Amino acid sequence: MSKEKVVQEVTIKRNLKLECIICKKKLFWTRTTLMNTPGMSFFNLDWANKSAVNYVCDNCGYVHWFLNK
Ligand SMILES: [Zn+2]
Repeated sequence: MSKEKVVQEVTIKRNLKLECIICKKKLFWTRTTLMNTPGMSFFNLDWANKSAVNYVCDNCGYVHWFLNK
């Protein structure tokens, strides 16, 4: 039942190594969160129905959010 999480270094925009802003470690596991919230389209927000990538620091658990383009 438990999906094994993959802990890895994350590179943003080809050459930026993601570093935890809290503890400065560089190992993260990844999950994807859908951003669509009922009613959000009423406000015509472009990102409302997109997904966000969460990089969760394997050390301290801080979640870094990135919107998919
Ligand atoms: Zn951290």
